[in-house]
Amino acid sequence: MKKLSRRTFGKLSLGVAMSVVVGGTELRFLRPAHAAVATPAIDSTAAWGAAAAKEPINVLNQKPIGIVVHHTTNPNTNDFTRNKAWQVARQIQQSHFNRGWIDTGQQFTISRGGWIMEGRHQSLSILQGGTKHVQGAHVDGHNETHIGIECEGLYMNVTPSLPLWNKLVALIAYICQQYGLTANAIVGHRDLDSTSCPGDTLYSLLPQLRTAVDTTLSGGAVGRMWPILRRNTPATGLAKTMQYLLRARGATITADGAFGPGTETAVKSFQTANGLTSDGVVGAATWEKLIMTLRSGDTGEAVKALQNQLTVQNYPTTIDGSFGTGVNTLVRAFQTNRQLTVDGVVGLNSWNHLAM
Ligand SMILES: [Zn+2]
Repeated sequence: MKKLSRRTFGKLSLGVAMSVVVGGTELRFLRPAHAAVATPAIDSTAAWGAAAAKEPINVLNQKPIGIVVHHTTNPNTNDFTRNKAWQVARQIQQSHFNRGWIDTGQQFTISRGGWIMEGRHQSLSILQGGTKHVQGAHVDGHNETHIGIECEGLYMNVTPSLPLWNKLVALIAYICQQYGLTANAIVGHRDLDSTSCPGDTLYSLLPQLRTAVDTTLSGGAVGRMWPILRRNTPATGLAKTMQYLLRARGATITADGAFGPGTETAVKSFQTANGLTSDGVVGAATWEKLIMTLRSGDTGEAVKALQNQLTVQNYPTTIDGSFGTGVNTLVRAFQTNRQLTVDGVVGLNSWNHLAM
């Protein structure tokens, strides 16, 4: 689609739906597709205190054709602050210098707290320009054509944090918009190279990432992100949490983290009983019916679900089904770190952040 100049746009009366013909192509308003995606906040190399690159950055006079998702394999910190994000960015640059590289390898980094940062120098201004590509050093054989995004953390068995996920969607949608790409441009590092990067769990979320990016690009509203669990999902802490919630709803399955036929049958029964599509797949609609609001004094299987998921999130606690003062302290610490209302009550928002 041709872009309208700002001057042309200024002459039009915005506020009513309309269409005009430009160069034989009818364009519909109010939201031109090229402006659907908001520009996310990105901290520049200057902001996080990057050292100068060792050699001039190579800027190629072509648009990138793909976007590679990585994980840094740093420990999954619960320090979600901007200072921590900047510290990680400096640490990554130093480790890449130590490999003999001229600068940070990837173009962008997103911290667990959801802070987007420029990686290699010039990546931010070149992205804003939308016509060129900063050659990085993040994926053998594809550095001249692909933008790399490093997600802080290790995602073999756990999902990235919700703030990281939401910014990953926002950044990639913006990149797609700038270069005229679709969500099909998203790949995991392992698609192009022999590596476990970006981790089994993050890799398994790439279809959901593509869907969320496509929705954003078309101006739609992206719903709350919940990881999808289905039969034969590799055994994870999150699957065990889901099984405890099913037990709280009366299912007689074992909470062992293995999503087998028994768990699938229990999911289908729960879905039928709650007016949901009975497909045995635990997605957003099922999660939001399955969770239960919990507070101090509560007991039982749902509390075990909470205790298990707190443990998954590195707030370890005994799984005894009793919401006492210890659990209350952990919940409040979790809510503080995630910038949620700190009330010790585990409702929809807290569950959503716990599940991611
Ligand atoms: Zn990688």
